[in-house]
Amino acid sequence: MTFDLAADLEKRRQQHRFREPLVMDGPCGRVARLAGRDYLNFCSNDYLGLANDPEVVAAFQQAAGSWGVGSGASHLVCGHQRPHQDLEEALAAHTGRERALLFSTGYMANLGVMSALLGKSDAVFEDRLNHASLLDGGLLSGARFRRFAHNDPTALERLLQRSDARRKLAVVDGVFSMDGDEAPLAALANVCEANDAWLMVDDAHGIGVLDEQGRGSLFSQGVNDRVQVLMGTLGKGQGTGGAFVAGSHELIETLIQFARTFIYTTAMPAAVAAATLTSLKKSQQEHWRREKLAELVTRFRAGASELGYTLMDSQTPIQPILIGSDADAMALSAALREKGFLITAIRPPTVPEGEARLRVTLSAAHERADVDALLAALDEVGCRTSDA
Ligand code: PMP
Repeated sequence: MTFDLAADLEKRRQQHRFREPLVMDGPCGRVARLAGRDYLNFCSNDYLGLANDPEVVAAFQQAAGSWGVGSGASHLVCGHQRPHQDLEEALAAHTGRERALLFSTGYMANLGVMSALLGKSDAVFEDRLNHASLLDGGLLSGARFRRFAHNDPTALERLLQRSDARRKLAVVDGVFSMDGDEAPLAALANVCEANDAWLMVDDAHGIGVLDEQGRGSLFSQGVNDRVQVLMGTLGKGQGTGGAFVAGSHELIETLIQFARTFIYTTAMPAAVAAATLTSLKKSQQEHWRREKLAELVTRFRAGASELGYTLMDSQTPIQPILIGSDADAMALSAALREKGFLITAIRPPTVPEGEARLRVTLSAAHERADVDALLAALDEVGCRTSDA
């Protein structure tokens, strides 16, 4: 038996599912430079425009001068420096929880939480559209793994009622990364409370963006005291990188003792933590970023619907245009690229079969005129909906 990698790669290419990284010649900001050309960028997750904010950049540079560019070790050896500690305390206060713990990425945070909390006698219940890292975390944990219909608390309840697992953990995205819609957290919390289950929310796309102060889905939906595990990422709304889990003292202590993706990996550089402290403060205080974003979302939705494009049920900065076939999604992405817009086509297996889409993301770094220019380009390339 040989490793016939070439055949697998060719098959992927034929399916229009080949993935290719872009080599950007500048920051992934409002404008992105690629192969000598500037594009208006509608595919970053820098929702608040903080990734290239001068004050955040200056905080990073200053901290790199003081702390170096690498943390030098894992948190439990000697990699946990003062900026990490300060950021954990700030994140705990920001999210109204006893404690918070930093992870180097959101992917690792999700794997770490589930493997620390769950084992063979337990069960995990996941929304069908949960992020890959949550699905992988659930599978890796060794717990019984169940998926329920998207945003359907009744389907979750049926599964919970039938389960005789020791621990039951229900897990959802706060904002679904490829659809932009929000989980019905109060209804999910009701079902969990009635069935002796814990609820974990991955708020990668809600932190910084939702709620008046950017505290995310749990605050915008008023359920912070009903969700036992909150995971948030720092590489999206907060503009830097890494992630955190926030919760009770016992939860965080359990992660420190048992989460292998926390224990056995190098801590994020202290300069990233310091830059995040600055971006966190700015995101709390600079309400104009969320206000501008909301205005751009409304403007884009109104314009794209008028052009006949099929949008999804999303009020967040994730505004996918549903296309349908992989080839059509690729063609539309290429046509927009030609016109100077960078928007990635998202295809299966990231999204279900027949639901390829252009994932448009808006940012407070955009101007109204940028959205208008995108709408004009969408008008020119023609309307292609999922029925096309
Ligand atoms: N959860 C969700 C919902 C995400 O969208 C992402 C990133 N795409 C992650 C987790 C992983 O976060 P990170 O990029 O920090 O690994």
